[in-house]
Amino acid sequence: MVKNKVTILGAGESGTGAALLAKAKGYDVFVSDAGTIKDSYKAELIAAAIVFEEGVHSQEEILSSSIIIKSPGIPEKADIIQKCKAKQIEIIDEIEFASSFTQASIIAITGTNGKTTTTLLTYHLLKEAGFSVGLAGNVGHSLAKQVIEDSFDYYVVEMSSFQLDGTKSFKPFVGVLLNITPDHLDRYNYDLSNYVDSKFGLIKNMNETDHFIFYSDDELVINGLAESSFSGVKHPVSITEKAENYLSGTEMNIGNDIVVSQAETTLRGPHNAINMMSAIRAAMIVGVSEQAIRKGLKSFKNAPHRLEYVATINEVDFINDSKATNVDSVKYALDSFSEQLIWIAGGVDKGNDYNLIMERVNAKVKALICLGKDNTKLREAFHDQIIDLLETVNIKDAVRSALQYAEAHDVVLLSPACASFDLFNNYIDRGDQFKKAVLELKEEFESKK
Ligand code: ADP
Repeated sequence: MVKNKVTILGAGESGTGAALLAKAKGYDVFVSDAGTIKDSYKAELIAAAIVFEEGVHSQEEILSSSIIIKSPGIPEKADIIQKCKAKQIEIIDEIEFASSFTQASIIAITGTNGKTTTTLLTYHLLKEAGFSVGLAGNVGHSLAKQVIEDSFDYYVVEMSSFQLDGTKSFKPFVGVLLNITPDHLDRYNYDLSNYVDSKFGLIKNMNETDHFIFYSDDELVINGLAESSFSGVKHPVSITEKAENYLSGTEMNIGNDIVVSQAETTLRGPHNAINMMSAIRAAMIVGVSEQAIRKGLKSFKNAPHRLEYVATINEVDFINDSKATNVDSVKYALDSFSEQLIWIAGGVDKGNDYNLIMERVNAKVKALICLGKDNTKLREAFHDQIIDLLETVNIKDAVRSALQYAEAHDVVLLSPACASFDLFNNYIDRGDQFKKAVLELKEEFESKK
């Protein structure tokens, strides 16, 4: 084993960041990626004179390291990881490594759903209020890359369970746990309790002066907290009136009896109320004023493809929710509208159970446009309920037909409940093509006026 030698497995954003940080801190650095490395990352490694390989994991090189920094995408079961474990080489995550080199305070956000939205909003609230803050984790640049300069007082970090699995001494001063629903169970031996434990890794090193913001309507969260040894300050967030922060009708009590109307924000739906209340609470802990929070909520723009407003044509709003690739997400989308909906759905089915949303669809959906190569499952689930059911493989047709069905003040909602690979590269491509089709139709419609 070579002392001070770090091998980074996987050269994506986090791996490249970890390599650059390790080099800057004087380690002997080797990067190994079993796939291909993106040109932009290669250029960064070359510029820093870091040795790397791709398409292979050279065992001898890797197994002579004293520390392995593993990309979250590589499963524990991978052969090379098993070999490192057998040699008792320390295996950590980029965030664990990076956080050991900064004195800044970390706000870490996890949960099965809502991480990106909550992370971006928390960052926005702090930044707009004039705090010195960096954005890291699954969004923005890796924490490691930013820690090289380390010019911020705060970092807001989005963390998946895979990233939490690679932490040992990582300690945020604010931890946010949004929810836990079964996901990624293939990586957790099909045992939900392993996944719950992974999420609770967030608070394992936190002490009395640290803060834990959590969704208190979620039984798995509450039970997990009861079993933990957390001794810090608890901040429950609820959409029923059980907590200090709660949603009542269209108003959020965001703590200390401060009330924000949902109309004063740019996010819609009860799920986003949870995200907003969590982000607001984190901002309040840091010291952001009520006035600044109200301003920030109004000016916030979420990441695209999540209930994203695209345009209004003939008094019909078009909404892009391409990120909703499962039924649960569609449920939240349907709950976000009081209007009648023209629903565009379909793609690659991932074992969907549409019973979960049957009632909502009955109540709100006027027409269903199936956008997929094989729409059997959607058609069978809804043909009794929805008389106007149309099928197409062309997104422009879908958008055009939706406008034909819609009356003034209806909403056209792309919220597919399915993966996109049958017709698109990914959910981003699907959402982008939808937006393009909507904007073209708007132009055509207006030129005819
Ligand atoms: P993540 O980063 O965890 O994937 P996002 O903020 O990107 O989460 O949101 C992805 C989807 O998850 C949204 O389109 C929405 O359908 C759903 N979602 C967002 N927030 C929540 C929440 N608090 N609870 C349940 N579902 C949510």
